[in-house]
Amino acid sequence: MAEPTAHERILLLRRQLEAANRAYYVDAEPLMPDRNYDELMKELIGLESDHPELADPASPSCRVGGEPVAGFDSVEHELPMQSVDNTYTYEDIGAWLDRVRRSLEIEADQSGPLMSCDPKIDGVAISLRYEVGRLVRAVTRGDGQRGDDVTAQVRAMRSIPLRLDGEAPEVLEIRGEIFMDNDVFESLNMRREAAGEPLYANARNVTAGTLKSLDPAVVAERRLRFMAHGMGVHEAERAMTRHSEYIEYLRSLGVPATRDLQVVQELPDLIAVIKEFGQRRESLGYGVDGMVVRVDDFALQARLGSTSKAPRWCVAFKYPADQAETTLIEVNWQVGKGGTLTPRATMEPVELAGTTVRHATLHNIEEIHRKDIRVGDRVVVEKAGEIIPQVVSVVRAARPDDAVQMPPPARCPACSGEVQQEGPKLYCVNADCPAQLRERLAWFVGRDQMDIDGLGDKLVDLLVETGLLRHVADLYALRIEDLVELEGLGEKSAASLVDAIDDSRDRGLDRVLAAVGIRQVGRSAARTVAKQYPDMDALLGASKASLEELPDFGSITAGLLHEALHSSWGQELVDRLKAAGVRLTSDLYGADVGDQPLAGRTVVITGSFSSGSRSELTERLEGLGASVSGSVSKKTDLLVAGEKAGSKREKAEQLGIEIWDEAALLSALGA
Ligand SMILES: [Zn+2]
Repeated sequence: MAEPTAHERILLLRRQLEAANRAYYVDAEPLMPDRNYDELMKELIGLESDHPELADPASPSCRVGGEPVAGFDSVEHELPMQSVDNTYTYEDIGAWLDRVRRSLEIEADQSGPLMSCDPKIDGVAISLRYEVGRLVRAVTRGDGQRGDDVTAQVRAMRSIPLRLDGEAPEVLEIRGEIFMDNDVFESLNMRREAAGEPLYANARNVTAGTLKSLDPAVVAERRLRFMAHGMGVHEAERAMTRHSEYIEYLRSLGVPATRDLQVVQELPDLIAVIKEFGQRRESLGYGVDGMVVRVDDFALQARLGSTSKAPRWCVAFKYPADQAETTLIEVNWQVGKGGTLTPRATMEPVELAGTTVRHATLHNIEEIHRKDIRVGDRVVVEKAGEIIPQVVSVVRAARPDDAVQMPPPARCPACSGEVQQEGPKLYCVNADCPAQLRERLAWFVGRDQMDIDGLGDKLVDLLVETGLLRHVADLYALRIEDLVELEGLGEKSAASLVDAIDDSRDRGLDRVLAAVGIRQVGRSAARTVAKQYPDMDALLGASKASLEELPDFGSITAGLLHEALHSSWGQELVDRLKAAGVRLTSDLYGADVGDQPLAGRTVVITGSFSSGSRSELTERLEGLGASVSGSVSKKTDLLVAGEKAGSKREKAEQLGIEIWDEAALLSALGA
């Protein structure tokens, strides 16, 4: 069989990537791991850049256009995006159905009309316009008449097809909801917490904020999802007669639409569906705050028409907020790695959204005082964004006489050290605080920091308790014989832990900076610093003003970094890490400047390597200035070929491209 031409290969890759998106977002059955997806995407981008004549704006590679947009154009909706009336009780739903039946002149002894019910997702409403099957515009609801053009942002979302499958109508406006999965929201907040940034309140707010991001790359990162639920303008040969049929049709076009649609005809069935779904919605993995009930038949919808605000053929049943009342037993202050003291409520156990809740967040001392929350109070607990339970209010009428006001802790609960307030937050400022040390150590050894395998929370606790670790630098003095004396650690695992600690000496400046837990200095800030400064000494010589000049550094981050490095804590840290043989030079220095060994060279990496995964090696090659591409072409300067390198190696040989094996790669990486 002949080798496929570039054109054939490009078309195949586009189809495979579209199929992967569809399988993931429409059918909820992933076809391939993210890594394979990324590899196919890289190959496609490489081929398309070699063949600009084959460019296509509907290619999956064109989701992120590169340049951030300047602002948002206001666009008028051809058909207004109406809101839906809300009801909160079964009586109200019954009353709505009575009105519908009267308007449609349905006799008392007749059933109907058919009604379709689907989940009401707590997201951001959007209208997507497809012309001849291609996504041409995405507009937010706005005031219902006009919204913002967010096409560039929406194109960056993998869950939204750029091109419809099958026979596409002339014009189809699909309305639906953009939202964020709970686990994506949680991990976003975890990263913010780790970086010392304020947490987002709920997934809906982040979704709305993300759509307003001027940089589509940010949208792509956030993994927003889309679910269709309605129709705007529709010009097609094929007429739709029912909502339930339309939802099926959308799925056949490759558009994510609910899999939970149910059609009923009688009020008792409708209420049963609402109840049943109410019990199940917690397990969906995203926020659903109600059920939308529609008259299924489009002709009947037209007969019913709309009021000035909302259609008469549609109503939403809103589930009650997940709130419960309980008694606040005590408040504990937990110490984070940066010394932050966070108040955590312990309450009498209470059933909330299907789980037993004992703890809730109280956010910070200002919140506690603003809401006047006291120990012993009856409090209302809510699951915010369906995730972290929080205390929302106090039942004043039920306040017992002996309820105790909560002053801010004068001393750190872990070390009795001094506490300082900064804005609404409290910090333990004792650098030797064991609680902070535990958190710092757990962070320091984390995968994205020093990546030391084998140091779990229990072992960290034990090492801190026994006094073997009083400082992160003490890690490097641990000996196998110290470790085997601890409970439950065999000689073999002790030896491999010591090896892992030893390996971590060589992570380089950016990883060390991210690992030591300076407030606001996470992985990306640390990388920025390491691009600008060749080593720790150069960084220590930098003024606060010059740190402020770093991209994305404001005066706050620059100030915190400068202060931390020049504090007695920072000086001791640097001295001790140096003494422990931790390398404090930068692998990223000048990464954007172009004086690195591989600057400006296009490199392809293929096969498997014993020294690391391809993605790790790719990152390191990029650190040397290489631009790493997925496929071999005339533009490739260098092929790095590991074990089992196949067709890419043959092609590189044919084209006379320089080829490195793993040993050559390692020597270039200075390993
Ligand atoms: Zn403390």
